[in-house]
Amino acid sequence: MVSFFNFQKGKKKLGLLDLEGALTARDRVGIQDFVLLDAHNSETAFLDNLKKRFSEDLIYTYIGTLLISVNPYKELDMYSKKHMDLYMGVNFYELPPHIYALADNAYHTMLTEANNHFILISGESGAGKTEASKKILQYYAVSCPSSALLDTVRDRMLMSNPVLEAFGNAKTLKNDNSSRFGKYMDIQFDSQVGSLFLCHKFLMVSIFLQGECSSVISINDKNDWKTVRNALSVVHFDDTDMEHLFGVIASVLHLGNVQFDGDTKGYAVLNSNAELRWVSKLTGVHVQILHESLTYKRIEARTDEVLCPFTVDHAIYVRDALAKAIYGRTFTWLVNRINESLENQDASRKTVIGLLDIYGFEVFYVNSFEQFCINYCNEKLQQLFIQLTLKAEQEEYEAEGIEWEPVQFFNNKIICDLVEEKHRGIISVLDEECVRPGDATDLTFLEKLEEKMGNHPHFVTRRVRSLSLMSKALSPLSSLCSTGFIDKNNDLLYRHIKEVSGSKNSIIRQCFLSDEVDSRRRPETVATQFKNSLLGLTEILMAKEAWYVRCLKSNDNKQSGKFDDVLVRHQVKYLGLMEHLRVRRAGFAYRRRYEEFLKRYKPLCPATWPHWRGVPSEGVEKLVKHLGYQPDEYKMGRTKIFIRYARTLFATEDAYEICK
Ligand code: ADP
Ligand code: MG
Repeated sequence: MVSFFNFQKGKKKLGLLDLEGALTARDRVGIQDFVLLDAHNSETAFLDNLKKRFSEDLIYTYIGTLLISVNPYKELDMYSKKHMDLYMGVNFYELPPHIYALADNAYHTMLTEANNHFILISGESGAGKTEASKKILQYYAVSCPSSALLDTVRDRMLMSNPVLEAFGNAKTLKNDNSSRFGKYMDIQFDSQVGSLFLCHKFLMVSIFLQGECSSVISINDKNDWKTVRNALSVVHFDDTDMEHLFGVIASVLHLGNVQFDGDTKGYAVLNSNAELRWVSKLTGVHVQILHESLTYKRIEARTDEVLCPFTVDHAIYVRDALAKAIYGRTFTWLVNRINESLENQDASRKTVIGLLDIYGFEVFYVNSFEQFCINYCNEKLQQLFIQLTLKAEQEEYEAEGIEWEPVQFFNNKIICDLVEEKHRGIISVLDEECVRPGDATDLTFLEKLEEKMGNHPHFVTRRVRSLSLMSKALSPLSSLCSTGFIDKNNDLLYRHIKEVSGSKNSIIRQCFLSDEVDSRRRPETVATQFKNSLLGLTEILMAKEAWYVRCLKSNDNKQSGKFDDVLVRHQVKYLGLMEHLRVRRAGFAYRRRYEEFLKRYKPLCPATWPHWRGVPSEGVEKLVKHLGYQPDEYKMGRTKIFIRYARTLFATEDAYEICK
C-alpha cells in the first residue's frame, strides 16, 4: 500500500535546513493536497485552490498520491538536474508537489516492495500528457543508477519517441502535436540495484482515431526528418527498411489525393490517374487492380462475380478506409519493430513501471463513435481506479488491524457493463446490427438499443431533428450521436487487400497477410477490437500498483498564464476529480506512521517532548489525548495512526505552526 505519509525504508531524510531552503512561502500558496481541503465537497473551493496556485506557477497539486497538473503553456524553471536531485529519495510530502516526486515515489516503492507499478497519465488533448510522460522518462534516465547497458538502451528508448510521434501524432485543433493513440510502455528496472534496464513493450490502444491521413504525417520539416531518420537507424532500420517505410507513407499521401467525379448516374469515375500510378508504384500493386477496387465492389453470385459500381461517396469512403488501413497497420508494424529492437535479453531480475499516456474523456458539441470509444476507455480506467484504490485501502486496513468500513461513492461498473456486457451491452447490439443482413442503419441500431435497454437508468435516447442521441450513456454528461456508428464500426476493407498482400513492398506484405480475405470469417469490428485491446490493457494494469497524473488544460488558446475557469471546471467535472477525492477521503482521510507523527508533533505535548523513551505508538497515544482528539476522530493501527477527518490534522498542523 502506498500512502503519502509512509516513511519508506532506505530513503534519505531531508534535514530541517534542507527543507527550509527548498520550501519558500510561495511554494505554500493554497493547499497542496486536496485531501486537506476543508470544504472538500465544494467544486468552487477546489477550483479556487487550483487557480490560486496556478497564478504562482504552482501547476502541480495532489489528491493524496494522485497528481494534478495544469498546463502552464510556458517553460517553468522546475525541471533541471538540480530539481531532479532535490526530489530524489525524498518523502512525498516534504517538498512542493511535482511530477518528479511522483516518479520518485513510484520508483522507491517499487524497489522496497519489489513489485510492479504503473503511472496513468490522462487528460484531454493538449493538457500536457505527453510532456508529463517525457518528464518521467527523463527523470528515470537521469536519476537512476547507471548500468553498462544503460547508455545504448537509453538512447534507443529516448529515440523511439520521435519516431512514434512522427508517425502517431497529428496537428489537431486542440494540440499541435496530438497523440492519436493511447501509448503504454514498460520501463524495466533491475529489481536489485534499481538501475534502469530499458523500456518497452509499446501497446497501442486503437490507432483508428487518426484524422485525415494527409494531416497525420507532418515530417516536412527538414530537422524533424533528420531526427526521424536518425532515430530509425538507432532502432536498427537499414536503408531498405527506410525506403519501404517511406514508400508506404508516400503511397498513403498519394492515395489521399485520388479524386473521383460522378457520371450521369452518380457512380464514381476516377479522375486522378497520375496519383494512382504513384500509389501503384509505391505499393507494388497493379494499377488496374487498384483502379477497380476503388470504384467497384465484387459481389459473388452463385457461379459468377458481379461488379457493382460505387457512388462517389462510397468510393471516397473506400479510398479512406484503404489509406487508414495501410497507415494504421504500418504504424503497428513499426511499433512491433521498435519493441523488438528494445527486447530485454536479461529479464530475470526485473520489475517494471508501466507508463500509460492516454486521452481523457472527450466531450464535444457533437459526440460520435470516436468519443464513445474514448469515453468507454476512460470509464474502464475509472473502474480500475476504484477497484485498485478500494483494494489497496482494504489491504492496508487489514494489515493494520483496523476494521473495514464501507465507502460511499458512485461505482461506475454499471456503465462499463452497459457498454461491454456480452449479448446485452451497446457494443454487442452494435455488432449484431453490423452483421445483420439487410439494411441496418444508424437508426435501426438506435431502435434496437431502445428495445433492449429502454429502462436502463443510465440510458435514454431522444431525437433532435435528424440526429438520434443517446444521452447519459457515458458519465461525462455527454450525448452521443448515433450517426456513423454502423459505418465506423464496420470500417470494411474490400477485397482489394488481398491484392495488396501481393505487394513488392515488404512492409505492406507483412501488414496484409494473404489469408486474411480468403477466410470467410468476418473480421472483428472496430468496437470489439477496441474492447479487446482495452481488456488486455486492464489485465496488465490490474496486476500492478497504480499512480495517477491528471492533466488539465488551462485555456483553449495555448496562452501562457491564463486560467479559464469555465474550461477547467468542465475538465474537473468530467475527469471525475471530485469523485476521486471522495474515494480518497472515504474511510480515513489521513494516516501516518507513528514514528513520523511523533517526531513532527511531539513539541505540542510536554509528556513527549523532547525525548520520548517508550514505544512510538504509546507516545502518539499520549500526544493525541493531550491534543483532545475524540475517539471517533482516529484509530490506532499496528504501525500507523489513522485520522478520519482532515480538519483534525489541520488543527494539529496549525498548533504546530504556532509553537515551532
Ligand atoms: P497532450 O499529450 O495531453 O495532448 P502535450 O503533452 O503534447 O499534450 O502538451 C501540449 C503542449 O502544452 C506542449 O507542446 C507544450 O507546449 C505545453 N505543455 C504541456 N505541459 C507543459 C509543462 N509542464 N510545461 C510547459 N509547457 C507544457
Ligand atoms: Mg499527447
